[in-house]
Amino acid sequence: MGTLAVDGRASLAPLLCKVMLDVGRVIDLGHTRECLNPDTESSSTENALSLSHRGGMRMRSDTHTSMVRRLAFPQHLSFIVFHIPRARGPAMQRAPTLAFKALMRGDAAPALIAIFSAAVVKFVVVPLYEASLRARAPVLASLLPAHVLPYYDPSRDHAFNMMLLAALAGYFIMSFCICSVLDLSPRLTARFKVQGEKNYFTVAEWLYTVSVCAANVFVFSWVATVPCWHVQRSGLLRHGSAVTALSEPFEFGSAVIDFMWHILIIEVWFYTTHRALHHPALYKHVHKLHHMWKAPTAVACMFAHPIEFLVGNTLGVVLGPALTNAHPYSSMFWMAFALASTSGAHSGYFVFGAESHDRHHEFFDYNFGVSVFMDKLLGTEFDGSGPAKRLKGKRAEPWHEKLM
Ligand SMILES: [Zn+2]
Ligand SMILES: [Zn+2]
Repeated sequence: MGTLAVDGRASLAPLLCKVMLDVGRVIDLGHTRECLNPDTESSSTENALSLSHRGGMRMRSDTHTSMVRRLAFPQHLSFIVFHIPRARGPAMQRAPTLAFKALMRGDAAPALIAIFSAAVVKFVVVPLYEASLRARAPVLASLLPAHVLPYYDPSRDHAFNMMLLAALAGYFIMSFCICSVLDLSPRLTARFKVQGEKNYFTVAEWLYTVSVCAANVFVFSWVATVPCWHVQRSGLLRHGSAVTALSEPFEFGSAVIDFMWHILIIEVWFYTTHRALHHPALYKHVHKLHHMWKAPTAVACMFAHPIEFLVGNTLGVVLGPALTNAHPYSSMFWMAFALASTSGAHSGYFVFGAESHDRHHEFFDYNFGVSVFMDKLLGTEFDGSGPAKRLKGKRAEPWHEKLM
């Protein structure tokens, strides 16, 4: 009311009319150019004044103009957001769609998984361990056989405890809390899957898969992880150099270099062991179990024969930190990243980077590696040729390809 000069009496109706007029002008994007034009602004002010006269109220035009300018400020913003990109041509208009399309295709999957893994370590693993699990480490130590303790003592090896927790958190959150929850609505999510509606399990298949994975994780994984931790702690592969302690300063540059080494080590290791497992002599007895699912879901990433799980999967992950002697925080990040990546690779979702490994499950003789690096090098990358091309032709076009 302080911005209005009222002739002796105040009336609510004309005031409401004026406010509605201004609000309407603010939200009407079609008037943006008009409001930026001083002539139009004065004419709209006159309109407002004449309206107010009809309502029996007179306003000071300068006060009203400042009110219009103040209220119209969001219109300037809308002009920038909606009009300037349009003025720069079709390339600018297509940029958001192209970026979204690349995201949905899985081009940003490694970055997404890296952000996810860093968040898991920072907001789940470290707080949970420090608040609760560190104090319970002696209880776990008392449960282990005495001859294991020289190699792994939970009350001493907190870095290793946290690495295992990071791996569990990466797998559990990605597979169960994200992908399995998305899988509950095939009607909504099938269009984002590599093999569409095939990439879903029945409840019985899901339970069977999870039970095999649980046996691998909680029983068999120790056979590979504890010796690897002993190698990492004792420095057997590093001329006896001391393991990096949790209390030592964390350097981001070193962490990036260690991460690149871990990626290279797992790529070479996984490609070699995986390709060997496809030899007829090994496939029939070992790897056939993992290929039971031609269109897997995320929980199936550790669905494998124990020998494959230990040699092909677990060793490939823990060998990196054992060789690089990375800082425990880098090792935790790596463990979470590796397990979240393999969950995403089996999820069937393009956005989580599933396309390459899904093609392996579908077409069998392609894409043996974690990334396509070794497959490109050795000529086993899926390129849609041969029998795969005929099968590919029968499949519906992926959803993100229809965007433009
Ligand atoms: Zn295979
Ligand atoms: Zn697989």
